[in-house]
Amino acid sequence: MHVTGEIARAREVLAQVRSRGQRIGLVPTMGALHAGHLSLVELARTETDFVVVSIFVNPTQFGPAEDFSRYPRPIESDLHQCRRHGVGLVFHPEPVEMYPPGYRTYVEVTGLQNGLCGASRPGHFRGVATVVLKLFNILQPDVAFFGQKDAQQVRIIQQLIADLNVPTVIRVGPTVREPDGLALSSRNQYLDPAQRQAAPAVYQALREAEVRIQAGERNPETLRRLLVQRIEATPGAVLDYAAVVDAETLEPVQRIAGPMLLALAVKFGTTRLIDNVRVDL
Ligand code: AMP
Repeated sequence: MHVTGEIARAREVLAQVRSRGQRIGLVPTMGALHAGHLSLVELARTETDFVVVSIFVNPTQFGPAEDFSRYPRPIESDLHQCRRHGVGLVFHPEPVEMYPPGYRTYVEVTGLQNGLCGASRPGHFRGVATVVLKLFNILQPDVAFFGQKDAQQVRIIQQLIADLNVPTVIRVGPTVREPDGLALSSRNQYLDPAQRQAAPAVYQALREAEVRIQAGERNPETLRRLLVQRIEATPGAVLDYAAVVDAETLEPVQRIAGPMLLALAVKFGTTRLIDNVRVDL
């Protein structure tokens, strides 16, 4: 397995891979790898010939009061996991390699970046879109793999590659969960035992709303209120948002019809967790 933090070296490795006619799959991550990330690596292994994992805690997607400096960076165990899962190249640059002095260019996917997580994390998706486009330009993957857990991120990246004619195919993997339903996240390790015990309520609330839809509920506000009530009834949970949105536009739906996302962001102490369920009627 190749490991480098240098753009030039990563390009050398991948030029050789390409010259062998192999297709390159990229799994972009911020590290602290868990089974959710590794499910995307496995998907990449089945669908491409050479898997690249990028590990980069991207400073431009964190707000000033967010957890950039304390975000976990267990690089040795991440490399070990990558080796075990047949990764061909780990690209883990330092911030200065990606954003050298004098850096000025940012990408914005207007509209889609403003609601849901964008409302509580201003500038977050500008940082995400920018770093993903940079990774695509640096590594030029044939296919890139993202998790449905970050549904707004997926939607924004799909729009970005369509609008800017990026020749990378986007594949989306399902959310991997703990046995009790909690979506795996590198941030789960911030939870204290009581918070960890309460956290599955997020997914339970989403599932309950989904079941109501299947049982015939067609009022989005009723469903949204159900989500709010379930979170308000959860010890230690503070609601950031509860939303029932169109899966394409990410705008709140007026009626329950086409593909939708039921989405929650909930804080437990300083830890903010997100989750969503996609509903296709
Ligand atoms: P992150 O390291 O949090 O930036 O996540 C890197 C990639 O892994 C993103 O595409 C995420 O959507 C995906 N991911 C994170 N958690 C999960 C999960 N529980 N299941 C599936 N994919 C995930």
